[in-house]
Amino acid sequence: MNDIFDWERLLINDHPFEFLFEVVFRSVVMFIILLITLRFTGKRGVKQLSIFETVIIIALGSAAGDPMFYEDVGIIPAITVFTVIILLYRFVTMLAGKFKWFEKLIEGKTECIIEDGEFSIGAFAKEGLAQDEFFSELRVYSIDHLGQIKNAYLETSGEVSVFFQADEDVKFGLPILPQLFELKSKNIPIHGTYACTFCGNIQELSKGKANCDRCNKEEWVKAINTIRIK
Ligand SMILES: [Zn+2]
Repeated sequence: MNDIFDWERLLINDHPFEFLFEVVFRSVVMFIILLITLRFTGKRGVKQLSIFETVIIIALGSAAGDPMFYEDVGIIPAITVFTVIILLYRFVTMLAGKFKWFEKLIEGKTECIIEDGEFSIGAFAKEGLAQDEFFSELRVYSIDHLGQIKNAYLETSGEVSVFFQADEDVKFGLPILPQLFELKSKNIPIHGTYACTFCGNIQELSKGKANCDRCNKEEWVKAINTIRIK
């Protein structure tokens, strides 16, 4: 059995140092093949990947890495793997273009998350998207509260696209700035306009406790209606 922390084994194993030249050669070859293969997918670049594309990238990545430094892994089997994956990619993309139901199955579909300043009910339960994660995406757009949003969609790439209310149409909404949102409470301190922290519903509430008319939850935060500063 090998000793643990055997430095020679850790650093180079049983290979002669000349093997490193082979590693350089293998890496260059695989790099070029990978580049050519990705060009064949027809994509121009990668910003956000759908689940399907992520699977393709993982498959290509692992098939590309091994022949770079495992001496018993040849380059031709890797090229075969690449060819099969790209043919599959093209075939699946073709089917997705032809059949809408197939596209939905592979890529998912765009979901409406916010409608007129409130969460579409069930948006979070269904999409496995955390509320605080979503809020952080919205803050990137300099959004203070949901009343500034007409519609927000979760795209199949995982990106959030936002359509704003015109300034004169901004309504009271759930604040998404942490220092305001964290003031949420089940106790209403004074009469005023409040937002349900779960669904974004806006209600006039008096001192005490109240359940949301829309989702029946009972945690509230003071609503705001500031205009978005661009
Ligand atoms: Zn609610």
